[in-house]
Amino acid sequence: MEDQWDVIIIGGGPAGSTTARYAASHGRKVLVVDGRENIGSPLQCGELVPSNEEMKRLCPKVPEIDDLFQTPDEAVSKKTEIMKIIPPSGKPLSFKFDGLVLNRVKHDEALVELAKKSGATYLTGKRVVDVIDNKVILKDGSEITGKIIVGAGGHHDVIRRKYWDEESLNIPVKFQLIEGEFGDDLELHFGTVAPGGYAWMFPKKSGANIGVGIQRKFSKGKSLNGYTESFIKEYGDSATFSGAGSLPMSGTIKTFVKGNYLLVGDAAGMVLPSNGAGITIAMIGGRIAGNVIHEHLEHGLPLKEYEKRWKKQMGQVMKNSKRSFKLGSLLLRFPDWFINLTFNRLTKSIIWRAITCRRMLFIY
Ligand SMILES: Cc1cc2nc3c(=O)[nH]c(=O)nc-3n(C[C@H](O)[C@H](O)[C@H](O)COP(=O)(O)OP(=O)(O)OC[C@H]3O[C@@H](n4cnc5c(N)ncnc54)[C@H](O)[C@@H]3O)c2cc1C
Repeated sequence: MEDQWDVIIIGGGPAGSTTARYAASHGRKVLVVDGRENIGSPLQCGELVPSNEEMKRLCPKVPEIDDLFQTPDEAVSKKTEIMKIIPPSGKPLSFKFDGLVLNRVKHDEALVELAKKSGATYLTGKRVVDVIDNKVILKDGSEITGKIIVGAGGHHDVIRRKYWDEESLNIPVKFQLIEGEFGDDLELHFGTVAPGGYAWMFPKKSGANIGVGIQRKFSKGKSLNGYTESFIKEYGDSATFSGAGSLPMSGTIKTFVKGNYLLVGDAAGMVLPSNGAGITIAMIGGRIAGNVIHEHLEHGLPLKEYEKRWKKQMGQVMKNSKRSFKLGSLLLRFPDWFINLTFNRLTKSIIWRAITCRRMLFIY
C-alpha cells in the first residue's frame, strides 16, 4: 500500500464512493478507507430512492442524472408507482411516485465497483481514528498522506467531529425486514405513530422494509423501540433482519470545505429533512466534490467551488425541504385529531409539495 495519495476519502458509502468515482475518472490517485470489511453491510436503510425520471423532476437543476445514477437491475428489489401518505385516521392520500425499493447492500457494492472501475483503490476493514494536517491515522497506528482529505464517514464523521463545531439534529431510526405480501404501494405514516417524524412501509419483491423515525423531544418518554414495535406489529411478526441508525435532519451545514478538508454526504448534512432522502443526495454531492477536487489539483480551482456548485444544483431544493421540515415539526406537535383535519383533499397538493421539497404555495 502506497502512503501518498492525491485524495484520501474516509468512508466508502454513496458519498465517498461517488466522490472517488469522479475524482479517479480524471486520473487522480484516490484511496477510499472504510472501517467495514464489506461496504454496505450491515444494512442501515429504508432502501427507497426515486427513479432517475423522478429525480429529474425533483432536482431539475442537477445535470446528467443518468450518468450519476446507474443502479444495476440486481440492486432493485421492486419498482413502485404510488406513494400513500397516511394520517392517523388511516385514510390515505395517494400520489404518483416512481420509486425504486433497493437491495441497498447490492446498491452500495455496485457504487464501489463503479469507483474501482474508474481507478480508485479501496482499503477496507481499517478505521480512521484521526486526521492531522495531510495525515490520516488508522486504528492500527499506520499513517497515510493525501493532498486532499474527504470526510464521507456519515453523521459521526471523524473530520466533521474534530474540525467542525456546527451541530446537526440527528433523528434516531429503527427498521425491520419483514416477510409477507405487502402489495405495490409505498406508505408513509404521520401522527403519534412516529412523533415529529414518520413511519414507513416500503414493499420489496419479497416482504417489506418497515421502520420508524422520531424526534425524541416529541416522544413523551416512550422509547423508539416502543414506537417501532407497535408500528411493525400491525404488519406481522416475521422479521428476518433488524437495524437502526441515525439521520441528520437539519439539512446541510454552512460550509463543506476547510483548508484541504471536504465533507460530503451525511457528514455535510446532505439529507432532505422533509423526507429523509440521503442516498441520491449524497451522490449528487459526491459527484460535485470529485470533479472539483480534480479541477483544484489540475488547474488550481478553489475548493470552495464545491459549495457554489452544490448551491446551484441543490440550494433551492434543500431550502424548500428545510422549510417544510420546520413547518411539519410544528404541525406534528398537535394531537392526531388535528393532523387528521389538516390532511384532506384541499391540502393534498400542499402536503405533497412539502414532502417532495417543492415550494408549498408556488410563491413565498
Ligand atoms: C435507518 C435508516 C434508514 C434510511 N432510509 C433511507 C431511505 O430509504 N432512502 C434514502 O435515500 N436514505 C435513507 N437513509 C439515509 C441514507 O442511508 C444516508 O443518507 C446515506 O447512506 C448517506 O451516505 P454517506 O455515504 O454519506 O454515509 P454512509 O452510507 O453512512 O457511509 C459512511 C461510511 O463511512 C464509513 N466510516 C465511518 N466512519 C469511519 C471511520 N472513522 N473510518 C473508516 N470508515 C468510516 C462507514 O463504515 C460507512 O461505510 C436512511 C438512513 C438510516 C439510518
